[in-house]
Amino acid sequence: MQPKIYHVDEHKIAPDKIDSHAFYVIQKLRQAGHTAYLVGGGVRDLLLGTRPKDFDVSTSARPEEIKALFRNAILIGRRFRLAHIRFGQKVIEVSTFRSGATEEAGLIVRDNEWGSEEQDVLRRDFTINGLFYDPESQKVIDYVDGYPDIEKKILRTIGKPDVRFIQDPVRMIRLIKFCARFNFEIHHPTFEALLNCKGEILKSSQARIFEELLRMLESGSSKAFFHLLNEYGLLKALSQPLAAFLDKPNNQALQLLGSIDDEVRKNTSFDRSLLLAALIFPLFQENVTERNKREDRPLHLGQIAEMAHRTIDQIFHPFFSIPRRMRGIMGFIMTSQFRLIPLDGKLRRPKPPRDAFFPYALHLLKLRAGINPELLSHYTVWTEASFASHEPIEAPHPRRRRRRRRRRKSDEKPV
Ligand code: ATP
Ligand code: MG
Repeated sequence: MQPKIYHVDEHKIAPDKIDSHAFYVIQKLRQAGHTAYLVGGGVRDLLLGTRPKDFDVSTSARPEEIKALFRNAILIGRRFRLAHIRFGQKVIEVSTFRSGATEEAGLIVRDNEWGSEEQDVLRRDFTINGLFYDPESQKVIDYVDGYPDIEKKILRTIGKPDVRFIQDPVRMIRLIKFCARFNFEIHHPTFEALLNCKGEILKSSQARIFEELLRMLESGSSKAFFHLLNEYGLLKALSQPLAAFLDKPNNQALQLLGSIDDEVRKNTSFDRSLLLAALIFPLFQENVTERNKREDRPLHLGQIAEMAHRTIDQIFHPFFSIPRRMRGIMGFIMTSQFRLIPLDGKLRRPKPPRDAFFPYALHLLKLRAGINPELLSHYTVWTEASFASHEPIEAPHPRRRRRRRRRRKSDEKPV
């Protein structure tokens, strides 16, 4: 098939918006006789006029050929090998053209066959993510009608939507992510397929879904995302209790996410445990308050901590398994809210604990006070106390996520 070509006078991507390292990688691959383009989310974001998060390169060169060309390249991935070319902190991901778009409905287990450039875009998820950009000739190369979809703000799968969702149900979460992030409309057949296939989501890997949810909490569009995830019925499949809570009118979970989005857009970075704690705190608070009403004596912090862990398990199990460390920090942040504001509502002389995660708890209180002004005085008192009592406690830096590298056979020492 002949692709449609869009020239610079039409697409207007300014050359200085292209990452210089990605440009260098493409040039070097070409000088060695390979084909190479920018591809995927980076091209989409350039056309939308936003700054791409990452610049991915797609090429005819095989992983070993890429490795031989770049001293700073490492090959990653066991099933699907691709190259990471490192320039200081920055990584340019370079993958070899693959085939893999089939019309067979069924979970994809093999997607590592090499292919042509056309096959490489046909296996991608949405038309807006299926464009190549050649930074040398400044051409956008479109095999999938992605260019007009970006112009018309339409989300449409490449290929038959139900087949594509069944093959990889994570694509449904990605659809909602793009819908929330760009406020694009979903093409009708794609939307119908989303509603028909939503139950398939449980067949995909929990780790991939969990990662997508966390990324969305960090994205600045988390409120819209969780609202849509619930509205389209996917949240119910993943977590029945959370979906039921978000269905309640005026619940504070979405409002808290809105406040987080505002802060993220002003460049605040959040620890992932704090984000998850904020998402489920309003539900937890409701549980605690109701139980407290039923008890003769106010619940003490030990009982609340125990409830916090139980609530985390109820919300995320059976589908997700929350890492132990994360579960511990979330439990601490949630329980601490009742130390900061006791169930009887009385302000006592605050004694800030020397816990490393206390600043996260205080941050959640700040977010809560943003939507409940009556909590502001509590927040002020605790903040002043934590400055006055000792040198201010520094929150640990949100953990940098490290990609786990699988140990290669050759790295293993002979026994
Ligand atoms: P973001 O801006 O959030 O990074 P993205 O579209 O760039 O969005 P990535 O996860 O970086 O998302 O993926 C890069 C590209 O790989 C996508 O643009 C798309 O072409 C392709 N892709 C990613 N996930 C899938 C999938 N599940 N199925 C098919 N293609 C995918
Ligand atoms: Mg990307």
